[in-house]
Amino acid sequence: MSHVVALRCALCGTQYDPGQVEYVCPSCGNDGILDVEYDYEQVARDLTREALASNEDRSIWRYLPLLPVDPAALRPSLSIGWTPLYHAVLLGEHLGMPNLYIKDDGRNPTASLKDRASAVAACRAASAGSSLVATASTGNAASSLAGLCASMGQPCLIFVPAAAPLAKIAQLLVYGAKVLAVQGTYDDAFDLCVDACNEHGWYCRNTGYNPYMAEGKKTVALEICEQFNFDPPDWIVVSAGDGCITDGVGKGIYDLFQLGLIPKMPRIASIQSDGSAALFNAWKAGTEQIEPVSAHTVADSISVNKPRAGIKALRAVRRSDGVMAAVSDDAILEAGRLLGRMAGVFAEPAGSAPLAGLIELKRRGIVKAQDRVAVVVSGNGLKDAAGASRGAGHPISVEADGSNLAEVLSQSGL
Ligand SMILES: *Cc1c(COP(=O)(O)O)cnc(C)c1O
Repeated sequence: MSHVVALRCALCGTQYDPGQVEYVCPSCGNDGILDVEYDYEQVARDLTREALASNEDRSIWRYLPLLPVDPAALRPSLSIGWTPLYHAVLLGEHLGMPNLYIKDDGRNPTASLKDRASAVAACRAASAGSSLVATASTGNAASSLAGLCASMGQPCLIFVPAAAPLAKIAQLLVYGAKVLAVQGTYDDAFDLCVDACNEHGWYCRNTGYNPYMAEGKKTVALEICEQFNFDPPDWIVVSAGDGCITDGVGKGIYDLFQLGLIPKMPRIASIQSDGSAALFNAWKAGTEQIEPVSAHTVADSISVNKPRAGIKALRAVRRSDGVMAAVSDDAILEAGRLLGRMAGVFAEPAGSAPLAGLIELKRRGIVKAQDRVAVVVSGNGLKDAAGASRGAGHPISVEADGSNLAEVLSQSGL
């Protein structure tokens, strides 16, 4: 893996050899999240437009020269990434945005964008010969890791807040993971997992702790740019909890720009719920000092007190000349209904938050009507049907003998 040349601490700037550290900066501790640096000259020899055009691998592995994974490593047998990018014509008409696109990452094997990161973790754990992979998660990172590990016969252990949606916990158990339901917050689960991994030598996938997760998540941006034929959109809109997706998108567009594969970097719009807005608050205050919040939002996947990839996310937004916004839970749920009704895409609340943010940014004149925009739907609505169906209305009851059918239909204007 000679293309990965260094790991650099986002706090103190110290540079490490890739083999020297696996997780955070030894001198800054858990806040010292590392950035992975590549030898772009070497990558540029393997990753060209021509090579990609003739590459029949429709998955994240088409970008292997830009991933921190040993090409010989055992990989999950599931198909990860290369999710569809839809031109959302009807939704775009409704919003007055003719150039609106939806990247449906709920189409990944375990139904969220997290598969992109978990794939990298699973491969690195396999390369390291780890007996067990562990993670703390609000739900999707866990179900993703559990599913991918199951496909490789790799044991895994999950620390999940006991309040995570039922479907996500069911998913973990079905995939055969060992599941610890932490009677506390995600942040409690996070610390427990790091301590356990340190004590037992297990491989730790924790977001914002394992520096390679943003590298997996960046593939969503690589795909968007390639699907736009390397004439990238003006905006990529994502939701943010820990900020790792935001950081990853920033990394992906930076990589492509450094490689000369795109002429300019798209701007990142990173969206939080106003009930979980630690990153947005720091953005608004113009500081990198991120004050933890006490998060409460319907969008469980972005419900985070202390964003672990916060500094990197803020820098990624700034470097792209991007913007952050915070939206209400009502706006998130309304955006979910719009995605469903006008695009046929069922998003979990964290997956519809970007659309809610886009609507807000357009209203404020920051995103223009003609801008080309890719909205990333990061998770499928079936992940949290109870959350998604809130405010979606109720079905109409019909008698089995059809006695009220005609009446019901005429009331519905049919
Ligand atoms: C994890 C997750 C997010 C937020 O990603 P961060 O990297 O924590 O900012 C958004 N949407 C879904 C569906 C997720 O699972």
